[in-house]
Amino acid sequence: MVQASVSRTEAFLQEADRFSAHNYKPLPVVLERGEGVWVWDVDGRRYLDMLSAYSALNQGHRHPAIMKAAEEQMARLTLTSRAFHNDQMGPFLRELCEATGFEKALPMNTGAEAVETAIKMVRKWAYTKKGVPDGKAEIIVCENNFHGRTTTIVGFSSEAQYRAGFGPFTPGFKLVPYGDVEAFEAAIGEHTVGFLVEPLQGEGGVVVPPDGYLRDTARICRERGIAFMADEIQTGLGRTGRLFCTEWEDVRPDVLIVGKALGGGVYPVSAAIADGEFMDVFQPGDHGSTFGGNPLGAAVGRASLRVILEEDLATKSDELGTWFMEQLRAIPSEHVEEVRGRGLMIGVVIRKESGTARPFCEALQARGILAKETHHQVIRFAPPLIIEKATLEEALDHIEDVLKGGV
Ligand SMILES: *Cc1c(COP(=O)(O)O)cnc(C)c1O
Repeated sequence: MVQASVSRTEAFLQEADRFSAHNYKPLPVVLERGEGVWVWDVDGRRYLDMLSAYSALNQGHRHPAIMKAAEEQMARLTLTSRAFHNDQMGPFLRELCEATGFEKALPMNTGAEAVETAIKMVRKWAYTKKGVPDGKAEIIVCENNFHGRTTTIVGFSSEAQYRAGFGPFTPGFKLVPYGDVEAFEAAIGEHTVGFLVEPLQGEGGVVVPPDGYLRDTARICRERGIAFMADEIQTGLGRTGRLFCTEWEDVRPDVLIVGKALGGGVYPVSAAIADGEFMDVFQPGDHGSTFGGNPLGAAVGRASLRVILEEDLATKSDELGTWFMEQLRAIPSEHVEEVRGRGLMIGVVIRKESGTARPFCEALQARGILAKETHHQVIRFAPPLIIEKATLEEALDHIEDVLKGGV
């Protein structure tokens, strides 16, 4: 008997569907290999990766320098826990501090853990250095934020779905509209100790705040003794055309939070970075992570950072992104409401009348381009920063067809 033929892709999709929690709705593509800006699926089709794992792949898939560092470290030592020292963590943190201009860094693994670290740091700073009564510290956050998925973090999300069913939540957070300096200032209370903000909201739909927003809120924070905490997990490490997005407005945060591309697409590496004034609140036993600062992660982090700096990926992102955004804006399409972004972090907003962005992403997939919708109406284009202009030019032909034709 002849079996009904099922493509390899279909078989993998069915297996994942059966055995996984359904907490994602991925595009129906099953990848098995990646190199640079390209990925291949299990049926041999090649795609241009224009999502870059939400900017965790700024250096591209399997960058040779990062792979080499990872392989060499794997052959030596991979994990010590923080009960012992290792010979990679110190150099990693020094290089991270040199690149960012801060005194100290605390290594974690995922982005959410680095955000949690920043929250703990600023709260303890407020209690020990500012005399805020115990348990009263308040941190201001923005509507439409995305800072991760732990229970504390989703507790201050404004997205109903991120919270529904997961309470009770951690108190001590206050939401204000993103991009509104006056609303921020008005929300400051007696026990406000921190402001946690994405310098450009990625998951929220590639939302660029009005000019001056970061500069003005940072100035108010300085005047009022509030810690300015920049979540640069997605916007950092070159993505928006600067090493850090806060540089667009010459802002130096009090706490800088990085992740994603710090692991070069190889390994989860994140960090909360600050001067001693904040970092020194941590005493032995206050905070930790079994894997944070491990030698493999540290070696990967060093190589990932080096690639960003040595290949000047921030400048590349600035130049290519500016050009690419111009090209996208020039596409005559009745479906497009707006094209926005900075560097190679670009959102194409689909008009509500044309449906959601999802079918456009599916049409792009059929043409060999992987992009993922965010917030229903937005197609996000965020290719690895190592991409060549010619590759972007080719992609534009397909994007133009899809945006013009509709789906
Ligand atoms: C991805 C992201 C996080 C969470 O990082 P994880 O590694 O998924 O925990 C936090 N903040 C921002 C801005 C992000 O884009």
